[in-house]
Amino acid sequence: MATINANYNKLAAGYLFPEIARRARAYQEKNPGVELLRLGIGNTTEPLTPAIIQGLHSGVDKLASVATYTGYGDEQGDTRLREALCNYYKQLGVHLQVDDIFISDGAKPDSGNIQSIFGLDNIVAVQDPAYPVYVDTNVIAGRTGQFNPEKGLYDGIVYMPCTDANGFFSPPPNQKVDIIYLCSPNNPTGAVASREQLQQFVDYANKHKAVIIFDAAYSFFIKDPNLPKSIFEIDGAQECALEISSFSKIAGFTGVRLGWAVVPKTLVIENTNPGKVNSLWNRRQTTFFNGASNIVQEGGLAVFTSAGMNECRGLIDYYMHNASIIKEGMQKIGLTAYGGDNAPYIWMKTPHNIKSWEFFDKLLHEAHVVCTPGSGFGPSGEGYVRLSSFGHRENIIKAVRSIQDNLKI
Ligand SMILES: *Cc1c(COP(=O)(O)O)cnc(C)c1O
Repeated sequence: MATINANYNKLAAGYLFPEIARRARAYQEKNPGVELLRLGIGNTTEPLTPAIIQGLHSGVDKLASVATYTGYGDEQGDTRLREALCNYYKQLGVHLQVDDIFISDGAKPDSGNIQSIFGLDNIVAVQDPAYPVYVDTNVIAGRTGQFNPEKGLYDGIVYMPCTDANGFFSPPPNQKVDIIYLCSPNNPTGAVASREQLQQFVDYANKHKAVIIFDAAYSFFIKDPNLPKSIFEIDGAQECALEISSFSKIAGFTGVRLGWAVVPKTLVIENTNPGKVNSLWNRRQTTFFNGASNIVQEGGLAVFTSAGMNECRGLIDYYMHNASIIKEGMQKIGLTAYGGDNAPYIWMKTPHNIKSWEFFDKLLHEAHVVCTPGSGFGPSGEGYVRLSSFGHRENIIKAVRSIQDNLKI
């Protein structure tokens, strides 16, 4: 008799984005003439740039002849790409070895899969609000209790509230935890941790032999040279942290699929020697994963050429200009908006403390703008919405104007 993994039954009803899509669709069906303006999902909209397209084409062309054809590659990724990433980290003052780096099909799979190498009795801490993958994958693995609908939290998880009072980056927890997920620049709040803030977590993790899982998917959006782009810029981080990142938001690879994880051999946790955690992730990947697409990795290599890097900076500047249009546009009508300076997301306080979903409906009905309710990312997101700068400029301008002209505050 087969049974299901009953942990799936613990997952709180529905994923956030299907519910947003459902409400937007229902409104559109009732109001077919209305043009909906989307500041909701964090999905890239601008085309891949020429150097990257050339890289992808060269990947395809290599498969067309006997002399250059390749089948399965190394599960850990193309050595040239791993070396290119080592060079990127070197520019940040971070010295890694090629076998510290694992190429993957994206940061979402890595951030979901990484928990499988850690014991089920570990206590997990997450930022609240957070990218939902960290919590949900630990629920599925069985590292939590039931969902508490009144509190909007799972029993057994330690939530670190990120509020306006702490600049949306909480200090380490007061109690002992074992696995800490951090995302900076943050999705959804757009907050970026300072060196001092990350140092506190690294010191905490080294003291308690905890591990930090650092999601750096938005590191390239950091403009302020004083802000760290990698956890490994922090003293002691190579002993307690691993880092997950992605080509999705850097280079528009959301649909192309490519990411990487850094699991330094220096990382040690309870009862492990250096190299053990790295070798477990290697074992996990070689068992479950057959390597990222060879075509796509050629595209990834092109990202780290000087032409590719310049073009990607152009893409990021484009989205960051959108972010400033949104942020200034909201502030102009008296709304309180955070983030958007070193991250593509604006975290906006709802007027008069109305609930996130109530404001979502109000914005949809009055301004025809789709946003993302903050409460979908955790209980401390209640009373906020996330506005995304991923969109065509003309649509961003239209959405901001429509809010300015039509929202009844
Ligand atoms: C978009 C995003 C990712 C990227 O995931 P991919 O699977 O590489 O597309 C990872 N983490 C966060 C926080 C994100 O917002």
